Amino acid sequence: DLKGTVELANGTRMPYLGLGVFQTPNNEIKNAVHAALDFGYRHIDTAAFYENEDGLGEAIKSHSISRKEIFITSKVWNTDQGYDETIRAFGESLKKLQTDYLDLYLVHWPIKGKYTDTWRALETLYEEGRIRAIGVSNFLQHHLEDVMATGKIVPMVNQMEFHPHLVQQDLIDFCKKHSIQYEAWSPLMQGGIFEIDLLKDLSEKYSKSIAQIVLRWDLQKGVVTIPKSVKKNRIEENASIFDFEISEEDMKKIDALDCNERIGPHPDKI
Ligand code: NAD
Repeated sequence: DLKGTVELANGTRMPYLGLGVFQTPNNEIKNAVHAALDFGYRHIDTAAFYENEDGLGEAIKSHSISRKEIFITSKVWNTDQGYDETIRAFGESLKKLQTDYLDLYLVHWPIKGKYTDTWRALETLYEEGRIRAIGVSNFLQHHLEDVMATGKIVPMVNQMEFHPHLVQQDLIDFCKKHSIQYEAWSPLMQGGIFEIDLLKDLSEKYSKSIAQIVLRWDLQKGVVTIPKSVKKNRIEENASIFDFEISEEDMKKIDALDCNERIGPHPDKI
């Protein structure tokens, strides 16, 4: 069911499936979020960078489902990194979202020379009870090791670009070993998956859409996923992945599409 959750290292439960709202403008976000909540989504992924936290705050406030039933993620943007800057940026995000806590707050990118201070700020906010779980995004193994060596708390989530052309299995295994939940961004390759022949074949075989095949593959790999759409029918389609199972053999075939190809920047080059 849509309320399928994973337990993070500190016991917080995070829904496996969420709605991504990157490139969803403030004038479209209410419709998208209401369609998602109506269908059963309880997890929304935003960031200060997306400039729609205020729209998301309004969307949640104007829906009958209460704030505390919804898992909200936001992220501190690159230009706000550093200890004091992050504390301030977090306050601004809360104000825009019209809430007094976040479920998950992430360091958006590993900005060299800054991200360990940024992480200390997240630890402070977490210890003050203002965030239910803290994590990072776009952190490779060496960034994670750096934070683990200098910080007190191991990140609970690592949100990474992840789709059939970019699996990074070694990083997934490293995260698993350290109880860092892996989460996929651009799980649909921003639309790129629809041209892949194997996925077309599997779509026919399982009588599921290509998006559903790929999102189900995420789920079976234990990866939290946050596909983006503003269209009601796609929002519903993307969440209808709990009624079938991809065979082990087909899972491996999808894994084998990996060619280490990114659509976003390399985390060491940001
Ligand atoms: P995505 O892979 O989710 O693709 C979204 C696009 O795919 C849509 O715009 C639409 O064109 C298409 N689509 C969606 N559902 C479809 C369907 N059922 N059938 C056909 N086409 C469909 O791309 P994304 O938005 O980049 O990634 C998802 C979320 O990940 C973002 O919204 C954001 O929340 C997060 N994200 C995080 C980072 C980061 O650095 N942490 C970076 C990018 C995205």
